[in-house]
Amino acid sequence: MGGLLLIIVAIFLIWLYIRTGNGEDAKYDIKRTMEQNMICPHCHIKGSVKTNTVKQKVGISGGKATAAVLTCGITLFGTGLSRKQSMTEASCSNCGMTWRF
Ligand SMILES: [Zn+2]
Repeated sequence: MGGLLLIIVAIFLIWLYIRTGNGEDAKYDIKRTMEQNMICPHCHIKGSVKTNTVKQKVGISGGKATAAVLTCGITLFGTGLSRKQSMTEASCSNCGMTWRF
């Protein structure tokens, strides 16, 4: 029991570090540097692009659903019905274009 408790405490501390630690600041710095060096693919102006991480729900396609039926759900087990994909949404303050990648 003591060992298990130690593991739980360790996981909690790691979680706490990721959530509040320097990791967030470093991530923000990388993001800011990336934004400053990004060139808008629409108006080709450097440094006017702002990025945002968005979660996009990716649904199952018709073809995949058919394949799942044919394989008795084996494909479904592997891919799931729908999943959330993390994407970056970029917007340009110069030309007003918004795009995702
Ligand atoms: Zn632009």
